Amino acid sequence: GWRHVWYYHNHKYDICMNCHCSLLQETQVNIHVGSHVWVEDSALAWIDGQVMNINGKDAEIRTSNGETVVENILKVYPKDVEAPSCGVHDMTKLSYFHEPAVLQNLSTRYELNEIYTYTGSILIAINPFQRLPHLYDTHMMEQYKGAQFEKLNPHVFAVADDAYREMINEGKNNSILVSGESGAGKTETTKMLMRYLAYLGGRVSTEGRTVEQQVLESNPVLEAFGNAKTVRNNNSSRFGKFVEIQFDQHGKISGAAIRTYLLERSRVCQISDPERNYHCFYLLCAAPPQEIEKYKLGNPQSFRYLNQSNCYELVGVSDAHEYLATRRAMDIIGITEAEQDSIFKVVAAILHLGNIEFDKGEESDSSILKDETSSFHLHMTAELLMCDPQALEDALCKRVMITPEEVIKRSLDPLGAVVSRDGLAKAIYSHLFDWLVAKINMSIGQDPNSNAHIGVLDIYGFESFETNSFEQFCINFTNEKLQQHFNQHVFKMEQEEYTKEEIDWSYIEYVDNQDVLDLIEKKPRGIIALLDEACMFPKSTHETFCQKLYQTFSSHKCFVKPKLSSTNFAIAHFAGEVLYQADQFLDKNKDYVVLEHQELLRASKSPFLVRLFPPVSEESTKSSKFSSIASRFKTQLQQLIETLNSTEPHYIRCVKPNNLLKPGMFENVNIMQQLRCGGVLEAIRICSAGYPSRRVFNEFLKRYGVLAPDVLKGNYDERNACVVILETKGFAGFQMGKTKVFLRARQLAELDAWRTLE
Ligand code: ATP
Ligand code: MG
Repeated sequence: GWRHVWYYHNHKYDICMNCHCSLLQETQVNIHVGSHVWVEDSALAWIDGQVMNINGKDAEIRTSNGETVVENILKVYPKDVEAPSCGVHDMTKLSYFHEPAVLQNLSTRYELNEIYTYTGSILIAINPFQRLPHLYDTHMMEQYKGAQFEKLNPHVFAVADDAYREMINEGKNNSILVSGESGAGKTETTKMLMRYLAYLGGRVSTEGRTVEQQVLESNPVLEAFGNAKTVRNNNSSRFGKFVEIQFDQHGKISGAAIRTYLLERSRVCQISDPERNYHCFYLLCAAPPQEIEKYKLGNPQSFRYLNQSNCYELVGVSDAHEYLATRRAMDIIGITEAEQDSIFKVVAAILHLGNIEFDKGEESDSSILKDETSSFHLHMTAELLMCDPQALEDALCKRVMITPEEVIKRSLDPLGAVVSRDGLAKAIYSHLFDWLVAKINMSIGQDPNSNAHIGVLDIYGFESFETNSFEQFCINFTNEKLQQHFNQHVFKMEQEEYTKEEIDWSYIEYVDNQDVLDLIEKKPRGIIALLDEACMFPKSTHETFCQKLYQTFSSHKCFVKPKLSSTNFAIAHFAGEVLYQADQFLDKNKDYVVLEHQELLRASKSPFLVRLFPPVSEESTKSSKFSSIASRFKTQLQQLIETLNSTEPHYIRCVKPNNLLKPGMFENVNIMQQLRCGGVLEAIRICSAGYPSRRVFNEFLKRYGVLAPDVLKGNYDERNACVVILETKGFAGFQMGKTKVFLRARQLAELDAWRTLE
């Protein structure tokens, strides 16, 4: 018997009633005159209509907006006219499974403010762009505590609860991976997850500074220094983050570790209208008067690093209020008053540094301070950094050349001095950010005796813009890695297990992205390796780098050389092809603080600043002429994947319903694109075809024997007994392996529900 039909990539599948294996059927879809169908539409993605006529392979359809279209019958999908008006909680429960049905279900629910929907065990979260306070209040948290997944509406709390229980019951590490494009709601989702975990694993404390409070308060601090307004999101995280929350044997939070990935450095010196620089700069400009006086600050319009854009304020946010809130959060985390002072001194110094301008000097190719104003800001910077003003000026305007014979001081022209100035600003800021992360980690503390942990990943989603540079390359590399992890987890591991247990499983192909990963990271001839090589040869340019890529990958199926360019290259990512502009790849990949800057900062009288720039050992400067951002990032990612591999993962896919960041707007085409890119459709397909829960026969009987006690009387065959229990309760679609029962998504929950009734 074949049960409901689902569709994927225009293929029709039937699902077997007995084993839920799916079978690809190339047969023509059962559509006739009068059928209610979905047909593709450029504006709406899919539009519903009724078949008026069929001519061979062509169907003539009258759409619900009154038009008549003709479409190949294989591209027309049947519509479930009996679909519930409030949608279904779980997409795997849709009676027809195809793109239009998925979209329709999400949109129906979104209209009712039901922003969460499951697809098997994955949670899809659509950004409401409005506060829904009742959705996250304490009452709601109470409801989800220990509740059956099935029973309540889909929710982030349910996912967190699931992870927590799995950790407690099975003693396993868990992780929750939150993904989605910029503005989709990853960070907000992450905060809700952390709040819920703190609620479950918190202790009553009179001290007012518990580990879980520290963990929660790390968010506003990291956001002040790592988030900024962009065109896509008013509070966009410009770094990736993995928070590992550790629990003791009583299930209480006992420590935490935060790892961050690849902060966007260029933003410190360069912003475009209508974006902003990192929040902390504006917060500091809105500090109480005595602090403004101390740091010689003024309004943000007067600083070069801020006034390149006309946007200074965020709607509904008071920078003055946020400044105090950030200070309070720092107090809770355990950043001392003195340290806070040092931090903001550095922030102020960067603002002044940006206002130092240069003119041509007397000698050719040299530069001098432009005017009195520049001189003022130079002195302010020097004062705040506690270094010698002349040394600062030299560090900005001169380079030291060491030849075997002598040490030469070479002057920089004004343009070179600006690059040097911006380089110094970026170096200081990124070191400050790293220090903050390290400080937060130290202050919260790791629990060496932790029983198990739950990791929460909030990392940038796939990006494809008009111009894509090194940052997009790294971000998309991340997403390829995570996609592979996802595929492997959901699919490969499942299949191995099925094969081992010899259960019936018809192989479903999925898109394997190992090829793209090899192209990017393989040694010694992947893109990263070639980039590093280019960075080490002083004569390389982005053109020679691209030539090298063209030669090496001329026949690689994921690499594309654009016809009309010698400085671009494209990669066929799992989520689509992306064209990269290579012109800044070499510069952006180089990660070092120039010697002059290092010496300047190390000579500072501020112990805080000196600590930001620990001495680099002779050895390491010699052995690696430069340190590569891409390679370091690759190593970090590898470690992340290894961590994730040792955990039981849970996935949350955030979706951004419109680009105007407005409530109530559900843009079909846009959303469909995100579901495709995020691998959600692929995921649904893999998940609904698999058997997520499994139990060894005697374990199963021990727990569920009560559902049919007669079965366990006298001599019985364990395997048979399991079947009888399941059939007695009307279960179908499960499979029996050699040693284990294989259950479909949620069947275990249903069994547990039966059990509590007994
Ligand atoms: P980025 O990649 O740029 O960091 P993001 O995915 O982290 O983006 P968020 O900052 O979490 O996006 O969300 C963007 C905005 O959307 C938030 O500032 C908030 O206004 C709104 N938002 C997101 N999720 C929710 C929610 N669950 N309830 C209410 N508003 C939300
Ligand atoms: Mg974010």
